[in-house]
Amino acid sequence: MDFPIIDLLDMDESIAWLEKHFHPDGLKCPHCQADHEHGRFFRVNRGSGLPVYRCQNCEGVYHLYRGTLFAGSQLAPPHVVLLLQGVLQGQPSKQLARELGLTEKTVLLWRHRLQAQAEAFQPPSALPDGAAESDEMFQNAGEKRG
Ligand SMILES: [Zn+2]
Repeated sequence: MDFPIIDLLDMDESIAWLEKHFHPDGLKCPHCQADHEHGRFFRVNRGSGLPVYRCQNCEGVYHLYRGTLFAGSQLAPPHVVLLLQGVLQGQPSKQLARELGLTEKTVLLWRHRLQAQAEAFQPPSALPDGAAESDEMFQNAGEKRG
C-alpha cells in the first residue's frame, strides 16, 4: 500500500530536520566558515525551494544542501526527508518512486549514492550512537577536496 504523504510534510519542518542532520554542528558559510547568523536571506532556489543565503562576512552564497550529497540536487526538502527515510528503512524503490512522484531510476540513483556514502563512512567498529553514523553519511566527502 502506498502512502503518498509527500504533500503532508511541512517545508519548514523538513528544512529544520535536514539542517539538524546535515549540519550537526550548525549551518555555516562553506566559504569562510562564518556562523549562519552572518547569513542574510538572498533568494529562493527555484528548483528545490530552499532559501539561499549570502554571507555578510565574505559575500559567498550557500544553502542547506551545500557540502552534502544533495549539493547539486533540485529535490525539495520534504522529498529529501522521505527519500532518506525510504532508503534507510529499505523501502522498495518502485514504491518509493510512486510515493514521491519520482522515477524509479532517480530513486535507484540516490539509493546507490547513499549506500556508497554509507560504506565510505563505515567505522572499523560499531559506534555506540547509531545517529552519528547516519549523520556523517550525508556529508559529501567529494566537496571537501575542493
Ligand atoms: Zn562567508
